[in-house]
Parts: sequence; structure tokens; C-alpha cells
Amino acid sequence: MVASIIDGKRLGAEIEEELKSSVSLMASSSRAPHLVVVIVGEDPASHVYVRNKERACKRIGIRSTRYDLPEDSDHGDLISLIRKLNDDREVDGILVQSPLPSNFDEIGITEMIRPDKDVDGFHPINLGRIVTGRTDGMLPCTPSGIMRMLESTGESLRGKKALVIGRSRIVGMPAALLLTQRGIDATVTIAHSRSEDLESLCRDSDILIAAVGKPGMVRKEWVKEGAMVIDVGINRVEIEGRSRLVGDVEEGASEYAKWITPVPGGVGPMTISMLMTNTVRAAESRLH
Ligand code: NAD
Repeated sequence: MVASIIDGKRLGAEIEEELKSSVSLMASSSRAPHLVVVIVGEDPASHVYVRNKERACKRIGIRSTRYDLPEDSDHGDLISLIRKLNDDREVDGILVQSPLPSNFDEIGITEMIRPDKDVDGFHPINLGRIVTGRTDGMLPCTPSGIMRMLESTGESLRGKKALVIGRSRIVGMPAALLLTQRGIDATVTIAHSRSEDLESLCRDSDILIAAVGKPGMVRKEWVKEGAMVIDVGINRVEIEGRSRLVGDVEEGASEYAKWITPVPGGVGPMTISMLMTNTVRAAESRLH
């Protein structure tokens, strides 16, 4: 079997097209949605991510504002800025780029953002709503992008065995919760760093979501024949003297899977599209 590719770039572009028309309607009747991105320090990867988000805003017509705080700013500076943005009626979405320098309490900062402006979907109220079966709010971007990719295949997930490798607050755990929602109805196993016999768990799974951050840790022959594979990992490696981005799933898994996401060009672009979706949603609920 040679897997079909779930093309995150193409799917993301389709979502952007739909958003463009909502944004232009909003801009003509009241104002364009407004996303504020706050970045602290000089982490190069974070600056690349923020630039990509700004570019997506520009493509769609979303207004974006960026606050750059120096590496040595203190917690109080960031808290005052978030309070100001929470109260600003012209701001629809607030995103504080992760990771923050080590002197910041990142979870505490997430909890400071008004839940209806939390376009990352990481506030405990937004994560908690998923547990109650509500998926109409601010969903965390990478997990909701994963769901859109699975749905785009047209395959039913009902009763299928899904394995989520990784239990992080931003990817693995919410992805597992979304997969178990009524109407999606997958049967979910969560594996993590203490799990035993990952190989058997993988071999038994119809849907495999890898969100670990270890290049090629899921061996290609572990993938069940006909499985759907979503590779969330983004790992920079040197191959023959060249720097490349690779996923958590070993290259060649497409010989076994029925559907697979590429790295790059898979989950990454979808994460940005879902951030744009949340921003438009936040603006719609504020302006209506
Ligand atoms: P994290 O470090 O917070 O979590 C990693 C998880 O992997 C942990 O829950 C840990 O228990 C698990 N783990 C570690 N070793 C394991 C092992 N040997 N077996 C099974 N599980 C193991 O990372 P994260 O923020 O969830 O990100 C995971 C990966 O996804 C990273 O490569 C990150 O760059 C990538 N990522 C991509 C996007 C995107 O848009 N494509 C978004 C977020 C994260």
C-alpha cells in the first residue's frame, strides 16, 4: 500500500479562502478581526513562528499587532500588558508565544488571558469545555487542525482504535479528548514517556497521532497496514550535512499507512489556519 498524503498546506489554504470572505464581510460592516501576538525574548524559532502567523493574518485580512518584550522583562510587565489587552475592545485575540523565558510562569500567564480572547485555546476554561463535550469555543489549534485533517479524508473514525503518543497540555491530551467526542467516537489510548511496548500499541492502532518531538521514533514497520497517521513532530536534524525538518514517524511509513501527513507541510500549516479560525470566531462573537 502507498499512502495518500493529507496535504496540510492545501487544506490550510482552503480554510483561509473561507475565512477571507467572513473577514471582508466583517471589515465592511464594522471592523476587521484583530489578533495581538506577544513575544518575549529572542528565541529564533519563536520569531519564525510569529512571522508566519503575521503573514497568515495579512493574507486573510486580519489586523495583527505584535508586542516584542525584551528577554529581561519581568512577569509584572507581561501581566500589565495582558490586562490592558483583555480590556481593549478593539482586540479580539491574544496569543503569548511559547516558550517564555524560564523566569515566567507560562501556565499562570495562560490563565490571565480572557477565555474569549484565548485564541490558542489553552486556558483551563477552554480546555475544560472540551471535557464537557463543547467544541464550539476556542479549541487548541494543533489538535483541532489534526481533527480537520482526519475529517478531510472522508473516513469514519467511529469505533476505530486511535493511539495518541504524547500527553502534553497543548497537543496530545486535547487531541485525545477531541477524538473521543460524541460524533467522532474513536476509542483512544494515550501513550507517554512511561508507556511500555509502544510497538504493540502502534501495531494495533487504526489511527496513529505522534506528538513527541523525537525524530523517527515511530518505526515504519510499527504502522498498521491501512492506518491513518498524523505526524505532529517537528524535529530539525542534519542529514548528509544538510539541515532538514523531520517528523516523529520514520520515513517510509507511507508503505504501510493508507493516509499520512508530511513533515513539513502537514500539521504545521493547519495549526496556523486554526489560529486564524479562532481569531475570526472570537471577533464574530464580539461584533455580533
Ligand atoms: P512535549 O515535550 O510537551 O510533550 C512530549 C510528549 O511526548 C510528552 O507527553 C511525553 O510523555 C511524550 N514522550 C516522550 N518520550 C516518549 C516516548 N519514548 N514514548 C512515548 N511518549 C513519549 O511536546 P509537545 O509540545 O506536545 O510537542 C510534541 C512535538 O510536536 C514536538 O516535536 C513539537 O515541535 C511538535 N509540535 C508541532 C506543532 C505543529 O504545529 N506541527 C505544534 C505543537 C508541537
